Amino acid sequence: MGIRTGAAYIEGVKSRQPEVWLSGRKVTNVYEEPVFKQPIHEIAKLYDMQFEQSIQDKITHVCEETGERVNNAFLVPKNADHLEARRALFEAYAKATFGLMGRTPDFLNIVVTSLFSNSDFLKAYNPDWANNIQNYYRYIRDNDLFLTHAIINPQNDRSKSSHEQQDIYTHLGAVEETEEGLVVRGAKMLATLAPITDEVIIYSFPGFKPGDERYALAFAIPIDTPGLRIICREPMQDGLRSVADHPLASRFEEMDALLVFNDVLVPWDRVFLYNNVEAANLLYPKTGIGQQPSHQTGVRGLVKLQFAVEVAVQLADSIGVDVYLNVQNDLGEIIQGVETIRALLKVAELEYETLPSGDIVPAYNPIETIRGLLPTLYPRAIEVMQIIGAGGLLMSPTEADLTHPELAEDMQRYYGGRAGVSGTDRIHLFKLAWDLCGEAFGQRALQYERYYTGDPIRKRAIFYNNYKKSHDFKLVDEALGKA
Ligand SMILES: Cc1cc2nc3c(=O)[nH]c(=O)nc-3n(C[C@H](O)[C@H](O)[C@H](O)COP(=O)(O)OP(=O)(O)OC[C@H]3O[C@@H](n4cnc5c(N)ncnc54)[C@H](O)[C@@H]3O)c2cc1C
Repeated sequence: MGIRTGAAYIEGVKSRQPEVWLSGRKVTNVYEEPVFKQPIHEIAKLYDMQFEQSIQDKITHVCEETGERVNNAFLVPKNADHLEARRALFEAYAKATFGLMGRTPDFLNIVVTSLFSNSDFLKAYNPDWANNIQNYYRYIRDNDLFLTHAIINPQNDRSKSSHEQQDIYTHLGAVEETEEGLVVRGAKMLATLAPITDEVIIYSFPGFKPGDERYALAFAIPIDTPGLRIICREPMQDGLRSVADHPLASRFEEMDALLVFNDVLVPWDRVFLYNNVEAANLLYPKTGIGQQPSHQTGVRGLVKLQFAVEVAVQLADSIGVDVYLNVQNDLGEIIQGVETIRALLKVAELEYETLPSGDIVPAYNPIETIRGLLPTLYPRAIEVMQIIGAGGLLMSPTEADLTHPELAEDMQRYYGGRAGVSGTDRIHLFKLAWDLCGEAFGQRALQYERYYTGDPIRKRAIFYNNYKKSHDFKLVDEALGKA
């Protein structure tokens, strides 16, 4: 089949009945649930982009194996042109969502592509695992599926490993092997967009200890598999707020969820790794599933940061405060943040590395530096927006006030900005800014930048240790005359 339309994606959502819990009730119709409806349509738009003539050749390609047109996330990158093709996809999806939807379909499709092309790693442990991931890759590529993932254990007692938790099935683990497959029990988090996806893939960060064998797992199943319970966090909007009042929060709410597996049967042909602590610990470093999706997150992060900075600049301009040195200094600083990420991305792509499988990946040091910097650059851009908008951010009336004839004069006189900025324009701009820097929606978007791919502190420590191993730090010796 290859690429599918937004309508086909929506048909898929309508055809399933996952067990979704939202604010204390079971959702009976995911598509009709107000809080999911708009995000479903935003995702559908991305699927439809694959059919737009102006962009189709940039974000899709003809698959050599099937002759079908498929998404660039399924392109196994073997040269610089392939990296460019992937970047075009990431950029197109990120721009369509202002970088505010982190888990668009490209993100996990890259992960599966990376597992597929590096499946020799799995083959060395168990040829069935390698076969399974290869078949799975072809299945999601040819059906253009949308995945969620849950790689983190619930936050119970982080000082103990999985097998040391009070109940051994708190963290997701294998219960028994049957002829049909593996029965799993316990929970994983934090599955973003889970209710509106087709499938869920489970794998984990390294960190397994001896005794954790039952938790050393990787598999994928349909999102409506019996026994899989999706418990959503409290919604950050009710799905009924107007686009005019909440131009971002009303459209881009990415629901997050805890996944509870109540003795779920995972068919053997969907198991990619099991009962092997060593393989689970090496999965990240040996299959490129960290570095390849970092390309997507880097491009998306750049678009999001750029967007936040543009909002801050326009905010300042609209009320004439960017004539002041302190405001110019703050804005200059966050623009330099954008330029830093832009430059790092270019270097990462230009200085690409080749994995043992022959896959081309963006260079580790610059791409990981993006990962290290965004958790401070993005919150700083949001802080600058808050400082510049000041009390004005809290003063926006509703669209109903703005359009009420009796208030029309007041709206234009008292809410207008500097000469040339009408009350209507300023109110709309400040509402957009408030969604980003004040609303719960904006706070989640900020927390996302901190944690979307693991704890930034431990990530940076890993970066330092890798850097130390691969550099000789000779300049000091030269300065001391020891070289
Ligand atoms: C908005 C959002 C969306 C997300 N979407 C997804 C998703 O779709 N799929 C998914 O799988 N995950 C997702 N994540 C989860 C993300 O992967 C985790 O938040 C991240 O890995 C950090 O784990 P944690 O939240 O459990 O924090 P913890 O690991 O519990 O850390 C809590 C605090 O304790 C410190 N700490 C904990 N353990 C250690 C240690 N061993 N050494 C030193 N310090 C430690 C940390 O530095 C941190 O300050 C999402 C997160 C957010 C915020």
